[in-house]
Amino acid sequence: MFPSPHAPSVERRPVVVVGAGPAGLTVGNILRAAAVDCVVLETESREFIETRPRAGVIEEGAVRGLAAGLLARAQVHDECEFRFGGERYRFRYHELTARHHYVYPQPLLVTDLVREYADVRGGDIRFGVREVRLHDLETDRPAVSYLCPETGERRVVHCDFVAGCDGARGVSREAVPAWRARLARRDHGIGWLALLAEAPPSADCVVFGVHPRGFAGHMARSPEVTRYYLQCAPGDDPENWPHDRVWAELRARLGAAGAQPLAEGRLIEKRVLDMHNYVVPPMVFGRLFLAGDGAHLTAPIAAKGLNLALHDAFLLGDALVALITGGDTDGLAGYSAACLRRAWDYQEFSEWLSGIYHGTASGDRYHAATTLARLRRLFTSPAAARAFAEQYLGAADAY
Ligand code: FAD
Repeated sequence: MFPSPHAPSVERRPVVVVGAGPAGLTVGNILRAAAVDCVVLETESREFIETRPRAGVIEEGAVRGLAAGLLARAQVHDECEFRFGGERYRFRYHELTARHHYVYPQPLLVTDLVREYADVRGGDIRFGVREVRLHDLETDRPAVSYLCPETGERRVVHCDFVAGCDGARGVSREAVPAWRARLARRDHGIGWLALLAEAPPSADCVVFGVHPRGFAGHMARSPEVTRYYLQCAPGDDPENWPHDRVWAELRARLGAAGAQPLAEGRLIEKRVLDMHNYVVPPMVFGRLFLAGDGAHLTAPIAAKGLNLALHDAFLLGDALVALITGGDTDGLAGYSAACLRRAWDYQEFSEWLSGIYHGTASGDRYHAATTLARLRRLFTSPAAARAFAEQYLGAADAY
């Protein structure tokens, strides 16, 4: 039962942030930097979120305010490589856009953001909370409640705004009634075996293997750890992929003339991701503002999810500060539309890239041949190359 607002455990903050992923922590840091009080609620432990392996490729435009640790330690990438037909094709995107990618593992980014929020800025973050619920979102006095991990007691935080940053499996999106949320979903019908290998990178850049046996990807994470992907059947069991099968398949799909042999290593993560995307427009319901994977999921195909989460968080954090400290309502009023323009653009890119990655393994000779034509065009048409580079880097002037 919802406790009385007069109960001793009831507290009040301008903003409650649900979820301590990249989106929630970035919103929290922007609020704290502007001396706006908030609390961040997270179901997992600090140790868990600081070690959860996920993304690593970050756009230049998505590092604002995260720069300290990242700029000191991230690798800077200026080009990537496609391998198809037994050949290697370098794609020098920096030459086309003057932009680069940072490669910085998500656990390090989250560690930096937690430290900045909690240890440096003294922000309130509560780990291990359970059964988070959102209340009265359509009123000007919303609240978020949760079970305290120490006492098991339900605690309530009253607030003015809720930032729903709890990812794809959170509760914020569920709090938007079905009549309001117009979820749009795309299922690619394809699985990726996501692997982390205790092995140094085997190329000096991200490598995409487009092969009749299926897509394979190689992405450096650190000098000791490399992420690999292998296209597989959706819902496949990782146990079907023992060490020897994984490395044989990676060698076949990433093999090309003059390519460095793959450095093998122990597989420390092995899980199957079903490739699907969704968007939940609008990203606002009353006083709830969704950000990141809670509002839109992009399969790792285009490496865009973390970037979108950060772009949302910058807009939301700035808009909340503008309203709370200066009474400016424009940012929050335009928040959903501004985020959705970029989100749909990235969705479309992910869709296009999925065609390239998976077309040659579709079993359809016509589709396989047009896929290769698309891919060759990137290396024969400067206009096509520039358009691809702009989307790959998220570098368009306007979204
Ligand atoms: P999350 O990171 O999911 O954070 C949400 C947080 O909320 C979590 O800490 C969760 O524990 C917490 N939470 C959940 N439920 C609740 C609740 N009820 N109450 C309170 N807290 C809750 N993106 C890229 O841009 N580049 C890449 O290279 C890339 N590679 C990827 C590789 C893999 C294998 C995967 C799985 C994803 C990849 N992504 C990539 C996507 C990226 O990791 C996500 O888009 C990103 O984590 C989204 O951040 P977020 O803050 O929105 O959500």
